[in-house]
Amino acid sequence: MPEKRDYYQVLGVGRDASSDDLRRAYRRLAKEFHPDVNKDDGAEEHFKEINEAYAVLSDDERRAAYDRFGHAGVQGLPTDFGFPFGEIFEEFFGFGMGARRGRRTPRRGADLRYDLTLDFEQAVFGLEVPIEFTRQEECSRCGGSGAEPGTTPVRCSTCQGSGEVRQVRQTFLGSLVNVGTCPTCGGAGETIASPCRTCDGQGLETRKVKRTIPVPAGVDDGTQLRLAGEGEPGLHGGPRGKLIVVVHVRPHKYFRRRGDDILLDVGINLAQAALGARIQVPSVDGEESIQVPAGTQPGKVMRLKGKGVPHLRQSGRGDQLVVLSVEIPRRLTDQQRQLFEQLAGTLGTEVTPHEKGFLDRLRELIEGLAE
Ligand code: ZN
Repeated sequence: MPEKRDYYQVLGVGRDASSDDLRRAYRRLAKEFHPDVNKDDGAEEHFKEINEAYAVLSDDERRAAYDRFGHAGVQGLPTDFGFPFGEIFEEFFGFGMGARRGRRTPRRGADLRYDLTLDFEQAVFGLEVPIEFTRQEECSRCGGSGAEPGTTPVRCSTCQGSGEVRQVRQTFLGSLVNVGTCPTCGGAGETIASPCRTCDGQGLETRKVKRTIPVPAGVDDGTQLRLAGEGEPGLHGGPRGKLIVVVHVRPHKYFRRRGDDILLDVGINLAQAALGARIQVPSVDGEESIQVPAGTQPGKVMRLKGKGVPHLRQSGRGDQLVVLSVEIPRRLTDQQRQLFEQLAGTLGTEVTPHEKGFLDRLRELIEGLAE
């Protein structure tokens, strides 16, 4: 048998390497020399050597023995590849060889969704909304233990309390130990002899929860607010999932939103359009006064700076855009008819073809809101 190389040399790390250093070096080398990837002569031998080195150095006891006595110190000990192998296999083949380090891996709980419908102005200015929703809470009868009050969970007889089971498989590398979660206790290490009558041993019950949701100014239809730690409980000490609040906004009678700008359609009469006028229009801040210039054409847009929606979680606001339409009277009083007839006499009877018609301007308005 050829003399074995120094394990630290094999992994290319110093004798003071931390377990993280070892792990990093191992993962890099194992990927490079995995026989399914690397077909070079000697790659498989090298791959075995890397695994052997890591199996020894990643175990504190074996590493100490190796440091004191060299290869003689760890000879004859079984080489347990269980842990790193699962991960490497997952990376290469996309599946695992069972849960790694089977026992009680903390896992974050599921996210919950809450649909919140707001009025237009509530979405614009934000508010605090009290909500009520149901989620899993610690069982009030057993306090979350899952055991009927007065009883206690007992050590799992399948895994003897370790929460994990080992399976040995024979492979080209020798014995491969696969560590998985104990199927009897699910990794908890204990089982419940008399399950709680309320939660059936789950330790959880569905309860209503009240929270106040801070809705920031500027949310829009479809905005999602994420509240960490308010979702379903995690597993094995993992944190709760998120509560995702999906915002819906009721349409407003007059206002529409385009991003952080607010659109408002306003009809003015012929005289206001021709002569100009000061008019009052509604805004989310109350009445605003704007000066319509003389000779205003239908479709003109007037901009009220800073009267739009506050930018979400930023300073500043959008604008309010007032789109003017000119309303032609459908019925005239006798006096109005006389005045229009007089006006008509001064305007003549000719018609003027336009290069750009009203419809084009309307389209421009919709597409770009060019003034
Ligand atoms: Zn219970």
